[in-house]
Amino acid sequence: ATPMSIMAGTGRAAREGILVRDAAVLEAFESVDTLVFDKTGTLTEGRPRLIAVRTVGTIDEDRVLAMAAAVEALSEHPIADAIVREAKAKGLPTHAVSDFKVLNGKGVTGTADGTAIALGNAALLGETPELTALAQPYRDQGQTVVSLTLDGAPAGIIVVADPVKTTTPAALKALTAEGLNVIMLTGDNTATAQAVAVSLGLTDVRADVLPDQKANVIEDLIRQGRKVAMAGDGVNDAPALAAATVGIAMGNGTDIAMESAGITLIRGDLGGIVKARALSRVVMRNIK
Ligand code: ADP
Ligand code: MG
Repeated sequence: ATPMSIMAGTGRAAREGILVRDAAVLEAFESVDTLVFDKTGTLTEGRPRLIAVRTVGTIDEDRVLAMAAAVEALSEHPIADAIVREAKAKGLPTHAVSDFKVLNGKGVTGTADGTAIALGNAALLGETPELTALAQPYRDQGQTVVSLTLDGAPAGIIVVADPVKTTTPAALKALTAEGLNVIMLTGDNTATAQAVAVSLGLTDVRADVLPDQKANVIEDLIRQGRKVAMAGDGVNDAPALAAATVGIAMGNGTDIAMESAGITLIRGDLGGIVKARALSRVVMRNIK
């Protein structure tokens, strides 16, 4: 192919919201045999909404939600957004927070109303039998659960639902039909990730992966001789995008993810990956 025909192809792709950094990216993309997808914000919409609060014993649900919202008011995580919105909608009292800390991929902690608050996953809080019992039915349906402790004692769980993008199933079907190995990679809980994977027909799931381990997963696959494309949206995903043979960023995600990527899907629509594959094949056939 002439540089002209490559430019024409990438120009057409750009008009459809698929930004390709350069011709080398298309060449690398044609060789890819494994596609790794971040779950939240990539396979799913990434804008969770709160669907349930459950508490341990007789603890008040509004108390759990208000304390959770107090710490999440200082966090920028999409889960935080869902919790703060719901507490506001219910008109719950707000609390000033001191000693606020973010534990990347785990949750948040702080002190409010004289009480130590911790909100997050098992990596942050461990998991007590009563919290697991509350959480399991929701996880089995693919919903994300975060747990709250007050002064170290389990208080309750908050459940958020993050729907799969309407465009995801067809894109995964097309990519699997091409013979690509598809892997889901997520910081979310294994049971939740499994349920979402089953609904999408995916069998290879790597869950409970901390942000700084995501790149290691990609590097391991590459060491095994795979050619890996990684699609992600978050700050957490940037090192994994950079480690991949081809990094694919969602345009609905963070700027840092887009800077680490060879391909950016402006609309966050995974159908763009199918189109980019087709483009890479056309361009490479013309070159050879
Ligand atoms: P993902 O890989 O799905 O993008 P993250 O690495 O951002 O997820 O977070 C992984 C998990 O850590 C979340 O599913 C949640 O359980 C917990 N977590 C992270 N940040 C927060 C927060 N601000 N509040 C509550 N839980 C959090
Ligand atoms: Mg994410």
